[in-house]
Amino acid sequence: NQPLHELDPEVAAAVDAELERQQSTLEMIASENFAPVAVLEAQGSVLTNKYAEGYPGRRYYGGCEHVDVAEQIAIDRVKELFGAEYANVQPHSGASANQAALFALAQPGDTILGLDLAHGGHLTHGMKINFSGKQFNVVPYHVDTETGLVDMAELERLAKEHRPKVIIAGWSAYPRQLDFAEYRRVADEVGAYLWVDMAHFAGLVAAGLHPNPVPYADVVTSTTHKTLGGPRGGIILARSTDFARKLNSSVFPGFQGGPLEHVIAAKAVSFKVAASEEFKERQRRTVEGAQILAERLTASDAREAGVNVLSGGTDVHLILVDLRQSELDGQQAEDRLHEVGITVNRNAVPNDPRPPMVTSGLRIGTPALATRGFQAEDFAEVADVIAEALKPSYDAEALKARVTALADKHPLYPGL
Ligand code: PLP
Repeated sequence: NQPLHELDPEVAAAVDAELERQQSTLEMIASENFAPVAVLEAQGSVLTNKYAEGYPGRRYYGGCEHVDVAEQIAIDRVKELFGAEYANVQPHSGASANQAALFALAQPGDTILGLDLAHGGHLTHGMKINFSGKQFNVVPYHVDTETGLVDMAELERLAKEHRPKVIIAGWSAYPRQLDFAEYRRVADEVGAYLWVDMAHFAGLVAAGLHPNPVPYADVVTSTTHKTLGGPRGGIILARSTDFARKLNSSVFPGFQGGPLEHVIAAKAVSFKVAASEEFKERQRRTVEGAQILAERLTASDAREAGVNVLSGGTDVHLILVDLRQSELDGQQAEDRLHEVGITVNRNAVPNDPRPPMVTSGLRIGTPALATRGFQAEDFAEVADVIAEALKPSYDAEALKARVTALADKHPLYPGL
């Protein structure tokens, strides 16, 4: 029972270096966050040792009396948080939750409608070489390239033409809120199931800052590690128990074996946090921070440098920077920000003229910095650093010093 640093100094060094990276740079990848220490603790607990195939009270292994308690707490809390009648907290990841949900609602070969990957959709919503694209007949819908908003008229037209089994609402890169009532209307009109993947904006929903898809959708999936701020993992929710048996058996034994009870315990902790006032206030700062970024990156000097923001702003925790008029491509812009200590990811803009590995855009998110304690004035400062870094000439050293000052002002995981 030697500690990590003694038993395996090589792995310990990588973990230490990653902690130092997280502490000393500014994390602005929109899908990332910093889990609270209590979540890390639950996730690093002895629950990792336990086999518990099945569900609380109905396990295929003995000795599940304590993991049953933790899993039931997670289920009850997440149902309460999102107003759902049904919850499954076992999916190992967002992609696993999506796979289980889709196979519960449809059969291979059925038609599904999902937002095109290049327009902000996720791999599991129908990308060609993902299970969803390989096993289902995918009809992609798109955003309007003028407004940057989901083209609901196209969605309705495609739904009427193709009569899909499932319509998928949800995104990985989109700066606005979806109209769930309108999706529901279209789904009802063509007799389709509506599945909402709220992985990105679940934290905003929990805080009441974004419409809740649960009352509208047949099934809702999410990750637990993005805006929701918990451990890496997935969940499935539904407004009724109509699909409970199908969903449960799709997760186990359909796609998974033993659940990760240590992660499920950590999910339970994060759902407790997500119900708190402090969490709501953090989500408010998250959206406010993204709006401050959007404002700064649409100011006249940013526009002169060829920088713009898709849809002109944001209602959520991220912005999409449009670099089609800039001399920088997405890769170069990502590298520049990395050089000054800000981590973001390059991202295709709709109808991107550049290849997917290069792109003409950036996705920049605020959840991790809000968790770190950033206030409006800190977001204004980081927005200004980004705007300066994306200009044709920039002073890397000076910008890096400003980044370091912000990191020092809001220490991350002190004492870890
Ligand atoms: N769904 C959406 C909308 C996502 O953005 C993501 C992750 O980026 C996922 C699902 C998949 O989550 P995971 O990476 O945990 O499989």
